[in-house]
Amino acid sequence: MLDSARSLTLFESMQRRNFLAGGLVGLGGCTRTVKVPLATSALPTLAPIRAQLDRIFRVTVCLRPFRAAGPRLDVERVGEKTVVHNYGHGGSGWSLSWGSSAIAVEKAMALGERDVAVIGCGALGMTSAILLQRAGARVTIYAKERPPEVRSSRATGSWTPDSRVALTNAVSPDFPALWEKMCRSSFKMYESYLGLAGNPVEWTDRYLLSDETAEAAPSKREAVESLSFATYRDRVRDLTPRQQELPTATHPFPTKYARRTTSITFNIASYSRQLLNEFFVEGGKFENTEFNTPAELSRLPQKVIINATGYGARALWKDESIVPVRGQIAWLIPQPEVNYGVMYKGVNILGRRDGIVVQGAGKGEMEGYNDANEQPDRAEAEAVVKTVAELYSRWAK
Ligand SMILES: Cc1cc2nc3c(=O)[nH]c(=O)nc-3n(C[C@H](O)[C@H](O)[C@H](O)COP(=O)(O)OP(=O)(O)OC[C@H]3O[C@@H](n4cnc5c(N)ncnc54)[C@H](O)[C@@H]3O)c2cc1C
Repeated sequence: MLDSARSLTLFESMQRRNFLAGGLVGLGGCTRTVKVPLATSALPTLAPIRAQLDRIFRVTVCLRPFRAAGPRLDVERVGEKTVVHNYGHGGSGWSLSWGSSAIAVEKAMALGERDVAVIGCGALGMTSAILLQRAGARVTIYAKERPPEVRSSRATGSWTPDSRVALTNAVSPDFPALWEKMCRSSFKMYESYLGLAGNPVEWTDRYLLSDETAEAAPSKREAVESLSFATYRDRVRDLTPRQQELPTATHPFPTKYARRTTSITFNIASYSRQLLNEFFVEGGKFENTEFNTPAELSRLPQKVIINATGYGARALWKDESIVPVRGQIAWLIPQPEVNYGVMYKGVNILGRRDGIVVQGAGKGEMEGYNDANEQPDRAEAEAVVKTVAELYSRWAK
């Protein structure tokens, strides 16, 4: 066992080498680690994950709608209609949804219409629709899918507000401040979903584990990444707790190093249901339909439309600035006692109420970049679950 002082030195050193750089992707924590005394770092009892291949009950693939310049939020005239865009949130769509939709809704309501259409029923469409209703509008959602068929339903479910949201050099100078505004207002809204029946949103712990020493090779992420994805999490480091290094005696993980952070989990099955219920209770209408061109919007009775079509905007709006970033999840049967997340050897694990998410991120944020293949890959799914199985086979009994 490492003594505390030695463990601190190693951790600081590892951080300089971007320890678990890939591991920080999607965990939403800030990179500053605090050292806590052994006594106060005591953990709740943690249960091991049953990572057997026959417990994979589903493999899903989703495409992140990435735009180098960040989400599109401008207003466009299409014939007689005014369209407010609200798409292109990369790997941050759930996290930024309320804040981004608040901006779109403000623009839509400023046009003076009280009967408003929303195209799309994913994270951005649902939050746009609810905020429109709260602002006094009658709302109809038009979409070819609704949860659980939408791509949003296949997301990890973590607070990741700057994950693949933009490229540092491609954003306008005011984007970082706009991002912070969206992030903070989303976070505030999420607070109001804590503690509800079904736990649509909750705080859960994440453990970042590694066997590598500071002398190990540079992280895979450093080795393969060629694009400079924007990272803004330091602007909102006050929102989530600092990472803590955990002395070996305080945790059951078999790795040399462990850090803990705490973040928000979206239990997307119950959260989506909650959002749709809210929308319908307030008199919202849903029409199942598909648009092939923007000109087809002329058939809608509403003059003002929020366009929240996500990756679908690439085809509908012929917006080739959207780059697909493929992500696959292997779903293990949920274990109510596993209510925490782990990052280990480039595998991101999140124990949600509706399934245990197991996701490979070997190439960090470049994983799946410009890959529009939405077919699940069973072999890839089994490979990442085997990594989880290896970890838990060494779990302290
Ligand atoms: C593997 C993976 C993990 C992720 N994890 C997270 C995470 O942990 N946290 C996070 O914040 N984000 C995460 N994301 C990102 C997040 O999922 C997306 O940013 C978000 O889902 C985008 O939502 P959306 O509403 O814009 O799009 P979608 O969910 O794709 O919804 C688009 C809607 O528009 C409709 N539509 C599209 N085209 C048309 C058309 N032509 N006519 C009619 N309707 C149309 C669709 O039917 C659908 O209703 C993840 C993404 C992936 C791939």
